[in-house]
Amino acid sequence: MSLEEGGTPLVGAPFLSERTGCDVYLKVEGANPTGSFKDRGMTVAVSAALEEGAKAVVCASTGNTAASAAAYAARAGLRGVVIVPEGKIATGKLAQALMHGARVIALRGNFDQALELVRELAKRHPIALVNSVNDYRIEGQKTGAFEVCEELGEAPDVLCIPVGNAGNVTAWWRGFQEDGVRPRLHGYQAAGAAPLVEGAPVEQPETVASAIRIGNPARWEDAMSAFTGSRGEVRAVTDEEILEAYSLLGSREGVFCEPASAASVAGLLRYGAEGRVVCVLTGHGLKDPQTAMNRAASVIPCEPDIEQVETAVMGGG
Ligand SMILES: *Cc1c(COP(=O)(O)O)cnc(C)c1O
Repeated sequence: MSLEEGGTPLVGAPFLSERTGCDVYLKVEGANPTGSFKDRGMTVAVSAALEEGAKAVVCASTGNTAASAAAYAARAGLRGVVIVPEGKIATGKLAQALMHGARVIALRGNFDQALELVRELAKRHPIALVNSVNDYRIEGQKTGAFEVCEELGEAPDVLCIPVGNAGNVTAWWRGFQEDGVRPRLHGYQAAGAAPLVEGAPVEQPETVASAIRIGNPARWEDAMSAFTGSRGEVRAVTDEEILEAYSLLGSREGVFCEPASAASVAGLLRYGAEGRVVCVLTGHGLKDPQTAMNRAASVIPCEPDIEQVETAVMGGG
């Protein structure tokens, strides 16, 4: 069951390289079929669910897992059911899940509660759970590490990656280990949702980066052993730093990612690194048009008159 996921662009980042003194690359995971890296894992998880005879797939999601599960379930002819925190998922992701025909349940609770509930549900019914607690997801997502090593001809020195439920950092580390390489993994959490940094679950996680608004990561131990094993680190970045990096990526590097993805660059800018650095941009900017519109400059209204158009085009400065 595939939509030809993976094989995403690895693009150089001249502005960020200049700014940080590192050799910076961006792994543009928004170029996957549903616009996030989740597809790398979903192709494997949904294929396995089919093989095992499941009739439906279910997940708890901050949005992208829902969009991806819905798409692959649709293609597989399986029922897709997704549980998302009410009012806390980006518009594009909701539109995707609905368009792919999933049953979308808005939980009056947060992601962590949703995950607990779907885990219980999957025990009671023949429904495949496709969250990243499902090991097939990790197996698929590790391919990002293979690609980066192949594209660079060797491992990077540092991999910067946003951390939510911590499945992805677990997967990249597994991929690097299987390739026999050991880049430092630098994980970044949003300051309002930084349980791994604080060393304790966060009851009410809050951040503009809704994809990493998670207070109790399911892959906690795996993630910590990735940071330790790679001599890396896990740090927090504020929403303001995330949004700064988000704007900078769009306006200076020409790459539009979603806010959670920009945490990787926000962390690099705040804490620095050395050598060849790959930042994983986990999801596409079009997923979350609202945050973009709130953040960006306004459009310029204009009458169809050459003088007025001239003024509008040339601008004031
Ligand atoms: C899922 C997701 C993350 C976090 O990945 P985890 O595996 O939960 O740590 C980061 N960014 C985006 C855009 C995501 O969809």
